[in-house]
Amino acid sequence: MSVATSVHVPASIAVRALTDTPAGVPLLDVQRQYRTIQREVAQAIQKVCDSGRFIMGPDCEQLEQSVASYCKVPHAVACASGSDALLLALMAYGVGPGDEVLMPSYTFFATASAAWRLGAKPVFVDIEPVSFNLNPRALEALITPATKAIVPVHLYGQCADLRAIGAIARRHHLPVIEDAAQAIGAEFEGRRAGSIGDIGCLSFYPTKNLGCFGDGGLLTTTDAQLAERLRLLRAHGMQPRYYHQEVGINSRLDTLQAAVLNVKLRYLEGWTAGRQANARRYAELFAGCGLDRMLGLPVVAVNGRHVWNQYVIRVPEGRRDPLRAYLAEQKIGTEIYYPVPLHLQECFATLGYEPGSLPESERAARETLALPIFPELTAAEQQTVVQAIAAFFKNPRRGQ
Ligand SMILES: *Cc1c(COP(=O)(O)O)cnc(C)c1O
Repeated sequence: MSVATSVHVPASIAVRALTDTPAGVPLLDVQRQYRTIQREVAQAIQKVCDSGRFIMGPDCEQLEQSVASYCKVPHAVACASGSDALLLALMAYGVGPGDEVLMPSYTFFATASAAWRLGAKPVFVDIEPVSFNLNPRALEALITPATKAIVPVHLYGQCADLRAIGAIARRHHLPVIEDAAQAIGAEFEGRRAGSIGDIGCLSFYPTKNLGCFGDGGLLTTTDAQLAERLRLLRAHGMQPRYYHQEVGINSRLDTLQAAVLNVKLRYLEGWTAGRQANARRYAELFAGCGLDRMLGLPVVAVNGRHVWNQYVIRVPEGRRDPLRAYLAEQKIGTEIYYPVPLHLQECFATLGYEPGSLPESERAARETLALPIFPELTAAEQQTVVQAIAAFFKNPRRGQ
């Protein structure tokens, strides 16, 4: 065993070392946001602790009402996570063994695991390269008599083409379940994410635009009967107490999370405006140094409102990973959403997809890189990010 010895560093050297280190830009810094609402959140948490009521209760009901009005839907049902929201939505439609559920492959895992856990088969649809969202033109050919639902994902904070998807769904009498985990407050043709399909699924995971201090989720719907069924399913199918009409799950929302979310929801519009301003600033900065021609910058659909859960660029083939490594050296945080599309995940190997079967999903997985976009990000930090990317491409050895 080695003995740790403390090394005395003269103050002058320590200061030098600090100033020589690049300042760094985090991909996400939740503490900056927390500091601005610290006192209010502490009070809300204290109130829950004093009440001794830790599951559901009035805070959850208030959250359901406020999110319903924010999303412009009549009904909202809180649950334990976005993953559970997707699971509950499929359960409400009785999806089970032998059924098929259509969804994009280029998304977070939970979209597909919900169907899988019910014994149903996820059927993966390729994406549109510009929006990264489900391509409606690839959808209809995949519908079979076993298809039970369509789950478009509003990836990165921008809605999928719900007009085209909705038209196909209506023709085939299929429900549309919006995976709006990344898109609270996003709009499509003036309507809010979660209010357009039959059910909307939200996540309050801390990296989402409205994040709690743990896990949380919520379902939105315009259908009162469906809302009742979701309420039943989220609490063991129990009604009244200890009488079970069917087998539900335990997916209640913690009161503490609801209390935190009730505070944070009041700030969501301001934070969204911050994300939108940051996205505009990136566009200007990239254009200013000519990088807009080299990189694929995100495009906002004319008929929508983008809420920028992520700012994702495309990097020319083969350059993405070296760029990411270079930015990491400069202490600039980035992420790859998502390195392996779901149809090529090991756990879904039995579905039989081969590389090349969904070319746009696979190309996105090779080319995309998420940059910091959180509301509290400063203009100087954005400049640092863009300058570092410019420096990478200026060096011919790196930029080739
Ligand atoms: C985050 C996310 C989920 C899952 O939400 P959790 O609250 O983490 O369970 C589902 N779908 C998408 C697209 C997500 O980004």
